[in-house]
Amino acid sequence: MSAASWKVIEYSMINNDNFVFSPPEAPKVAVHGGGLFPVRRIFCIGRNYADHVREMGGDPKETPPVFFTKPADAVVESGAVIPYPQATENLHYEGELVVALHGGGGDLDTREKAGALIFGTACGCDLTRRDHQAAAKKAGAPWDTAKGFDHSAPIGAIGRYQHFPPDSFDNARLVTTVNGEKRQDAALSEMIWSAPEIIIALSQQFELKAGDLIFTGTPEGIGPLKPGDKVEIMIGSLPGLSFSIASQQ
Ligand code: MN
Repeated sequence: MSAASWKVIEYSMINNDNFVFSPPEAPKVAVHGGGLFPVRRIFCIGRNYADHVREMGGDPKETPPVFFTKPADAVVESGAVIPYPQATENLHYEGELVVALHGGGGDLDTREKAGALIFGTACGCDLTRRDHQAAAKKAGAPWDTAKGFDHSAPIGAIGRYQHFPPDSFDNARLVTTVNGEKRQDAALSEMIWSAPEIIIALSQQFELKAGDLIFTGTPEGIGPLKPGDKVEIMIGSLPGLSFSIASQQ
């Protein structure tokens, strides 16, 4: 049997009833008011708050946004208790606005087309192994173990666009508390790249699809978490996100 004919037989055996083990359950996020959002991919933007760049006279948009990803099954629902991750001694929270897409496309060229893809928004936390990230930056190595580990993407219920349009956030603040103490408090208007601008930039790198989530970056005030800590992230009137790190046994 030639290699070519063997390949034909192999592919012909693939059908929905013939998985060699059960396919994993589709990752999902609750939608405020009812329903489930099926998660396809998780994109994240590296740095997206102007901090002092503008007051220093610099142009925050001088360089294009930097993107990285997390696996879809890194999502964690609000209210969860997650284990302190293995292989780190410096787990950090990053409170972020998350944008959920119900449509897709590539090479989008207008804010209108980009905005039309938005299903809704949510409060999220880009959990980070800061020690891995520092080592990766130093070595010019990939960020995967710093950002894409298990349970690294807690996300609150998604508020539908009709009820929580991103434009209504202009005066909203992102507030992160740890054990009730405020750690992050920033206006979303300080974001360097708006949600539609991020979608346009991402669409120039990937063909976006329904089910994609985008973590839009964190403001200043990031810091470490320890076992037993409770994290809460609020953005304007969006459903809040709350989760805890399990106490050590
Ligand atoms: Mn982040």
